Amino acid sequence: MSALWRTLWRNLLRSPPNAPAQPRRLALLHRDCGSCNGCEIELRLLAAAYDAAAHGLVFVASPQHADALLVTGPVSRNTEAALGAAWDAMPDPRRVVALGDCAVDGGVFKGSYAVSGGAGSVVPVDLAIRGCPPTPAQMLEALSVFAKSG
Ligand code: SF4
Repeated sequence: MSALWRTLWRNLLRSPPNAPAQPRRLALLHRDCGSCNGCEIELRLLAAAYDAAAHGLVFVASPQHADALLVTGPVSRNTEAALGAAWDAMPDPRRVVALGDCAVDGGVFKGSYAVSGGAGSVVPVDLAIRGCPPTPAQMLEALSVFAKSG
């Protein structure tokens, strides 16, 4: 490789002097545990319109690739086992985010015989984002702070 090419490669790989700090990456595994889908609509907006990835927030499909479990919905009785299994399959350190009033404490479904009463009844919750549904801006702010705290 000539000296010119070596210089070009070195300059290409070097960060610009005033490059902004990279956001802390947080890999999220989403589990819908009986949501009305209102939270999911806002969550899709977070990914698409608010460019979550540029803020370090990425969605993964496998528990083994996740840093945090993102739970929506009130945790219906028939999703308890699947939620627990996803948590068990995640590597340490692992954390849980309850997204929306239903995931925080059952929300409008609280007291129903068909729900367990929120993500905290199955897995240990580290961050609760309230709202019915929370807005993408609320999610972005809370999750960005959460990513940095990990
Ligand atoms: S918090 Fe509200 S929007 Fe979200 S799943 Fe519950 S009822 Fe639906």
